[in-house]
Amino acid sequence: MAYRPTIGLEIHAELKTRTKMFCDSANNPDEEHPNVNVCPVCLAHPGTLPTINKEAVRHVLRVGSSVDGTLADYTEFDRKSYFYPDIPKGYQISQYEYPLVAGGKLSGVDITRVHLEEDTARSSHSKDGSLVDFNRAGVPLMELVTEPVIHDAETAGKFARELQLLLRTLGASEANLEKGEMRIEANISVSKDDTFGTKVEVKNLNSFRSVERAIDFEIKRQVEALEKGEAIVQETRGWDENKQQTFHQRFKEGSADYRYFPEPDLPKLITSEIPEFANTVIETSLPELPWDKRARYENIGLKSSDAAYLAETIERGIFFDTVLSELQNDAALALIAANYFVSDVAGWLAKNPSAESKLSSGAFATLVRMIAADTISSRGAKDILLVLLEEGGEPETLAKEKGLTQVSDPEALRASIQGVIVEHPAAAAEYRAGKEASLQFLIGMAMKATKGAGKPALIRELLVEELVK
Ligand SMILES: [Zn+2]
Repeated sequence: MAYRPTIGLEIHAELKTRTKMFCDSANNPDEEHPNVNVCPVCLAHPGTLPTINKEAVRHVLRVGSSVDGTLADYTEFDRKSYFYPDIPKGYQISQYEYPLVAGGKLSGVDITRVHLEEDTARSSHSKDGSLVDFNRAGVPLMELVTEPVIHDAETAGKFARELQLLLRTLGASEANLEKGEMRIEANISVSKDDTFGTKVEVKNLNSFRSVERAIDFEIKRQVEALEKGEAIVQETRGWDENKQQTFHQRFKEGSADYRYFPEPDLPKLITSEIPEFANTVIETSLPELPWDKRARYENIGLKSSDAAYLAETIERGIFFDTVLSELQNDAALALIAANYFVSDVAGWLAKNPSAESKLSSGAFATLVRMIAADTISSRGAKDILLVLLEEGGEPETLAKEKGLTQVSDPEALRASIQGVIVEHPAAAAEYRAGKEASLQFLIGMAMKATKGAGKPALIRELLVEELVK
């Protein structure tokens, strides 16, 4: 029997709030000067007392409501004891027995809990010594834990991406992995039967791709070790981006080592006593969630892959929704807009990742209407779209300037077509005698005479009409 991998994720996200979790020092992840956003509370001076940041609690409740988790009525904070230079109190305030959110589901994966805690300071080490920057100490941190129900790297990556999109949609976190605003840890084990194998925790995953690669690497490493008769050790491993492999960091502490106990300096948090934390208030405060946006696009008739692409970032979703409203949500126009966006606009963005698109939603909507009305060919539309992306402008003006406006009025074309027949009497006679190929020749001549302004189908129709007169 083959080995079956089992994966559970633990994801931390720094929440977007004005102040820190338990004090009124600013929460500013972009602050470049060390140790300026600090106060006696987050520096752990003796005798100081923490207070709970409501904004942070609200963020976590909104995440919980979005994933259909159970929002706690009663919750409390606990001290998680450990000694490290980046944790000035000697303990971190976290939640243990009573998390804010229990259960829930995202991207098909069961969620165990979502709770709130505080971030640690940031330490940096060099040959001259170690430095600690306390700007990050006490920043609100959300921790989400999934059930061990994931069995492959792809599902884990998909879950993490969906959570990032959700956090951004809710305005709860910027969730940039490279900036450490979202940190993913994967617990991985392999087993030949229904029991779980020994799990190994992998950290330092700075991109979704590293999450997937680290999981694949770790599954392979564990299977190979077991095949050689070696035992898997419970440990924390890091991910080496250069070597593309995991490496041993330390042996894992058990939760007993943390000596959790309820934080005596904070009151119990009974959410039902706070009107803005009521389930219904939280629920009605939610914006359109990513999966609802995708479903709405699919309902207009968009392919699911196109819907996913358009809803993949906040900016893209806003742009497409503005275009949709300019097109008065007309389904046929929406389909044209989606096709051109997903092929041409996306292609341009992929080729010019650092360039700023000059395309406005209004110009894009106008172009879509021109395509639908056949006043421009699809080739011409692509040319204009490129100009709109690089330089901006008005599609109608651009089409006229470039001579790309297509004439769909038959009478405007008829004179040119009559001229073509007069100029090529032999071909005309051959067609009249039954030679179908001569018509192709005349269509080509008429296209040339009208400089591409006429649609091929219309030119053909008019030619036949004039030839059989
Ligand atoms: Zn402070």
